[in-house]
Amino acid sequence: MNDPAPPGDGDAGLQHEPLAIEDLEQTCLTCQGQGTRVDPAWQVWRERLRELADAAREAREAAGLPPETPATGMGVVIDIHGGAGQSPPVDVPSAVADAERALDDHMDARPLAYEQRRCALCRGNGVVLTDLGVELVALLERHGFVRSFG
Ligand SMILES: [Zn+2]
Repeated sequence: MNDPAPPGDGDAGLQHEPLAIEDLEQTCLTCQGQGTRVDPAWQVWRERLRELADAAREAREAAGLPPETPATGMGVVIDIHGGAGQSPPVDVPSAVADAERALDDHMDARPLAYEQRRCALCRGNGVVLTDLGVELVALLERHGFVRSFG
């Protein structure tokens, strides 16, 4: 008798779609959801490293040395030298030594900044608020629910 909402057809046009979390936040396009970004200085450094590593490999091959053998033992370059401090297996041509020394110098010239930096846009969350999410935050702020970032 006093049931205000008869079951069955009460939800037609009266209720909104349920709010999904995707309506409030979305993947950060700046970092593609990673939350971190590679420092541009590191990208430049890595490209140069690849060039020097290729040059060193070519120098070893030109000298008749196996391309992946640590020829001088000077380097600690990952994936290029076997282990640091190994003695040269044979007398090493100067072209090979120069190429490997350039590689080592480049290793010492690594960028000072962290390679991975927290994404400034999403603060490392990987997601950012949508327009609707911003509105929700504003609403929550009005009612005192939102803590400010310290
Ligand atoms: Zn981001």
